[in-house]
Amino acid sequence: MRKFSGDTLLVATHNAGKLEEIATLLKPYDIQVVGAAEKKLDEPEETETTFVGNARIKAHAAARATDLPALSDDSGIEIDALDGAPGVFTADWAETENGRDFVVAMTKAHNRILASKSKPPWTARFCCTLVLAWPDGHDEVFTGTIEGRIVWPMRGAQGHGYDPIFQPNGYDLTFGEMDGAEKNRISHRADAFGKFVKGCFD
Ligand code: IMP
Repeated sequence: MRKFSGDTLLVATHNAGKLEEIATLLKPYDIQVVGAAEKKLDEPEETETTFVGNARIKAHAAARATDLPALSDDSGIEIDALDGAPGVFTADWAETENGRDFVVAMTKAHNRILASKSKPPWTARFCCTLVLAWPDGHDEVFTGTIEGRIVWPMRGAQGHGYDPIFQPNGYDLTFGEMDGAEKNRISHRADAFGKFVKGCFD
């Protein structure tokens, strides 16, 4: 496993929330964290059919463009009754004429589960893939998951995306009802970040 040895990490995201989360995580390591917007990078098209494929596109494009090691993140939810859908299309299911609407996306997921005639519990997982790519083309991949089930109706107004219909195993609350700090401790992203820090920084 290649260790991170520079003093600046480019985070290949235009999402200020993700950037902040990563900067906080890396505080103890005394490196400068820079976002894609600050470097005026374009968002490449995500043309692959896997989380790791799309994460690699984003990380390598950013590393090439900036000559810095670059970290990207691709995530989504897999529902077993739907053979793993929406998967890499998780955000796409929310697209409407007026922008992204996750109530639309969650309703679509529920309707498709009903159409599949599968019986509850409707098992599902959130997945997160992180890729750290270097300008010379090398990369390291870290994956994280959290297993749970889809519930209906939606419950809770915290979090984002599909949180109100996802109940992690071992909890009575959905991610939408759970305290943010608690979710961030057990989430797919926390799982992947833990492996990333252990692999590349410790
Ligand atoms: P990405 O930004 O292309 O990786 O899109 C990931 C999509 O997956 C987001 O738009 C969310 O809808 C969904 N997603 C990822 N992580 C979570 C989560 O922790 N809670 C709810 N939805 C999530």
